Amino acid sequence: MEKNSLVRESIKSVIKKNFSIILLMIFIIFAFVISSLLPPQILRYIIDNNLAPRNNEGLLLLAYLYMGAIFLIGLFDLAKETLLTIIGQKITKEVRMKMMEKLEKINAMFFSKNESGKIVSNFTNDVDAINSMFTSVIIGMIIDCFKIIGVVVSIWLFSVKLGIIAVLLLPIIYYITRFFQKRMLKAQIDNLVSVSKVNNHISESVKNIRMIKLFSKESYMESNYNEYLVDNYETIERVTFYDSIFSPIILVIRSLIIALIVILSSEQLNFLGVSVGMIAASIELISNLFTPIENLGMELQNIQQSISGIYRVNEFYEISEDAKDSVDLTNILGSNNLSLSFNNVTFNYEDDKNVLENIDFKIKPLERITFVGRTGVGKSTLFKLAMGLLKPSKGSITINGINVYNIPNSEKRKIFGYVDQSFPMLSGTVAEQISLKDNSVTFEQVKESLDFVGLTDYIKTLENGYNTEVKKDNLFSQGQKQLLAIARAIVTNPPILLLDEITASLDSITEEKIITVLQKASQNHSILTISHRLSSMISSDKIIILENGKIKNSGTPETLLKSDDWYRNHIELEKLTWN
Ligand code: ATP
Ligand code: MG
Repeated sequence: MEKNSLVRESIKSVIKKNFSIILLMIFIIFAFVISSLLPPQILRYIIDNNLAPRNNEGLLLLAYLYMGAIFLIGLFDLAKETLLTIIGQKITKEVRMKMMEKLEKINAMFFSKNESGKIVSNFTNDVDAINSMFTSVIIGMIIDCFKIIGVVVSIWLFSVKLGIIAVLLLPIIYYITRFFQKRMLKAQIDNLVSVSKVNNHISESVKNIRMIKLFSKESYMESNYNEYLVDNYETIERVTFYDSIFSPIILVIRSLIIALIVILSSEQLNFLGVSVGMIAASIELISNLFTPIENLGMELQNIQQSISGIYRVNEFYEISEDAKDSVDLTNILGSNNLSLSFNNVTFNYEDDKNVLENIDFKIKPLERITFVGRTGVGKSTLFKLAMGLLKPSKGSITINGINVYNIPNSEKRKIFGYVDQSFPMLSGTVAEQISLKDNSVTFEQVKESLDFVGLTDYIKTLENGYNTEVKKDNLFSQGQKQLLAIARAIVTNPPILLLDEITASLDSITEEKIITVLQKASQNHSILTISHRLSSMISSDKIIILENGKIKNSGTPETLLKSDDWYRNHIELEKLTWN
């Protein structure tokens, strides 16, 4: 793909869709630049025609005109800013939507290799940089250049000598403002860093307050905090210093220039050969030079940042997506006559080390399979592969011949119900935790599935029942969250259930209840479970024992009890500890 493509594409499409707004904006920008040159001209006229010859005629009208011109500048400025914001936001939205579409297509592997912080900053800071690139940097630079040119030309027309002086002033003003801007920016960045250190320290302390108390780390936290605060104090002082010194310095330079012009044009020198009105107008025009020059400095600086923002967004857009082939799901959707096969599957997260190797098995429709094996052997990984979240490096995983990796995410919920020990909450009501705001899930289904896991009574005690907003994380206990996770998985009645260690955080009575219910459910579902505690698991048709990334043994519980020493020892040990 071509470089800069996403950003360029988005800007192009926004321009195409909003062509009339763009034209209007160009017009407004010109009107703004030109109108800002008017007041000095009116001022010159007033002085030369009325004030110097002491002539009152038409003075009131001229005063209105002057005010009108100022008003017009404000109006154009307002219109310009409004249009820029509108266009900028449209571009931002376009880029973010395209990025979101992209995000949905990226292979899940990408997220295990990249920190989420980087992606978040792609979406936030980098897109903002693109917005500011368009609104303030490019357009801002154009406006500022025009303004500067307008001022210089206006002065030049009064007097060539004065014009030359104005041109000579440009680099001087530029370098002086840059000198301070650079130091100010450095101070601001240092300050941001130290502020974030202070803030992070607080949030870290609050988050880990129990650990800090338990391990008596208070003094350590305190001394660190003190250090960050002192640091922050110093950076704030620097920021304030540059902030407060900048305007007076600009004012001093401006008055020096005004003094210079006045001296040069005094009668004794009469060097410039201009009228009093022109002097006044030039003073005003030169005063107007400072702001665009200051802005130009900042804009040149921001360009660097914006370009790297664009670069990073495009880089994000170029992350390879594993293309999914389109598949025909008509035969498997709605059917529970599904068989899942692992065909000689090998998988690795990192390039060199295989987590799973040559895994080969087939699950018949409605079969119940339990995977056992030591911590870290790759059981959860195997489940993610089974649902097509990860792509095998060798071999394939199919359901009735269809490659699971090709099943679109939008259909997955109809086929797989996955439960592990985590229960990511989304913002919304209790019912929405189960439906996930999926319109195809009815309220009846939500109630049924919550009833199925035995949470109805508890939910009825909540303030608004099913419609209680879940704001705090502690509305539900660990075990209740586990039950919610099961309800969320089964609400769409998927034919294949994958249960990863789901009974670990439940008390033994609830556990038994859940197992009984799932046992019942298993009559029309295929169930894959991962369990550490063999004695408490759902009775299975087959057990697959994993070791060192391979299938070490498999068979019915009865045969394994006879043939597999590891399995037999495990069961016996458990009986000892649990009885
Ligand atoms: P447990 O019983 O503790 O849940 P498990 O059998 O489910 O273990 P997995 O979570 O599948 O084990 O992990 C298998 C191996 O893969 C581990 O060595 C783990 O470090 C590694 N692993 C898991 N997830 C990732 C990831 N996103 N990126 C890199 N390596 C990973
Ligand atoms: Mg696991």
